[in-house]
Amino acid sequence: MKYKSTRGQVSGLGFSDALLMGLASDNGLLVPETIPDVRSRLAEWQNLSFVELAQEIMPLFIDDIEPETLKRLVAESYASFDHDDVVGMEQLDELTILELFHGPTLAFKDVALQLLGKLFEHVLGERGQRLNILGATSGDTGSAAIDGVRGQRNVDIFIMYPKGRVSPLQELQMTTVADENVHCIELEGSFDDCQNIMKTVFADAEYKAKYQLGAVNSVNWARVLAQIVYYGYASLRSERSPTFCVPTGNFGNVFAAYLAQRMGFPIHHLLVATNDNDILARFFATGSYSRGDVHQTLSPAMDIQVASNFERFLFYYFDQDSQRLTQFMQDFAANGEASIGAPPAEALMSSVAVSREQTLQAMRDVHQQYGYVLDPHTAVGYYAAKNREQNNEASSAGGTVVVGTAHPAKFPEAVVEATGVLPTHPTLQALDGLPMRRQSLPCDIDAVKAYLVESLAG
Ligand SMILES: *Cc1c(COP(=O)(O)O)cnc(C)c1O
Repeated sequence: MKYKSTRGQVSGLGFSDALLMGLASDNGLLVPETIPDVRSRLAEWQNLSFVELAQEIMPLFIDDIEPETLKRLVAESYASFDHDDVVGMEQLDELTILELFHGPTLAFKDVALQLLGKLFEHVLGERGQRLNILGATSGDTGSAAIDGVRGQRNVDIFIMYPKGRVSPLQELQMTTVADENVHCIELEGSFDDCQNIMKTVFADAEYKAKYQLGAVNSVNWARVLAQIVYYGYASLRSERSPTFCVPTGNFGNVFAAYLAQRMGFPIHHLLVATNDNDILARFFATGSYSRGDVHQTLSPAMDIQVASNFERFLFYYFDQDSQRLTQFMQDFAANGEASIGAPPAEALMSSVAVSREQTLQAMRDVHQQYGYVLDPHTAVGYYAAKNREQNNEASSAGGTVVVGTAHPAKFPEAVVEATGVLPTHPTLQALDGLPMRRQSLPCDIDAVKAYLVESLAG
């Protein structure tokens, strides 16, 4: 399998090069040159475990790693999950919660970032290269990225976060990791400041090449690839083609579902659930993609207005017409708005925005009815799915699977507010009292660059 860019200036890349490139060098996003059709394999895949299915899907997209090696890397990636079959499926009457939070940092990002870490380690080792990862986080991504590469010899990871603006638990998850290749930076600034510093450092081509900088943000193709597996897995375990309801921020997770459907997995519909940051809900209702203000909500990992993976979806929506896509993205960058003229005709996808009150209500209802505790991100998905069921829009289909993106113990304040119950998890309790390692830096690009150089020399 080869990879190309949505913007049309890059093609013929092997998987390992796509893995290391992250964002395409023409500023587009990398996608596979063709989408494999798996329909003839579904019957034999029906009863595979999660890991076995991942081992079948990965080689369709990765042909520059030895098949036996790839199999081993996949198995090792998921050995750190504390569920028998990696992911869980919890039935709440007609809705199913697909629990993706049984990895080491209790968020679905582990499914992709554990594999990404193993793939980096292997490819860098083969090539005799090093990689220095620089990332910015508002919470969940940082700890999952750190856990994916901690202790590796060929990788150092630098994660910036806004001082005082990530939750105390999230800060503990990042800063108590003792491995020497992990460097946490608390920055005197906002999350936007962290991201701007990251973008500016990456735009300095000379510095980037000299210090072998790489990224692990959600535009990395390998992250999308890893996420395809659980959609395939859950669709094969459903009686009829399900609707997936996906709590969405950067659109990476729901884009993986879209690809799984295009590959031929039995998927009826995709419901894109957003919080008050509703740019996607407005797009699916009107066809106009227009930037709004960022609102702080109970589901901070979804407090995103411009969804970086949406470009991949538009590329397919435009029948892989790179020129049309590039025009759309340029219009959006210039005006903060671009339109496809009318609401998307495709019946496959729709979107709902869920308010703070509705999120709390979903958490409260589910706790009362089932004694099951939702985290606020999953609750956004639950509310959207329930609403759709009640409008009978799902009645002809095979039920709805709500994607569970985080363990409730990661977001205790919101859970307590909704249910009065304090959720806990042994992994988080074990962090209490551990020493924290972090570097405080002013919001200044030169200070960040100097810290990197100093740490790498030492
Ligand atoms: C990252 C994240 C999301 C959003 O996922 P996207 O791929 O950005 O759409 C939702 N919930 C949780 C808990 C997350 O960490």
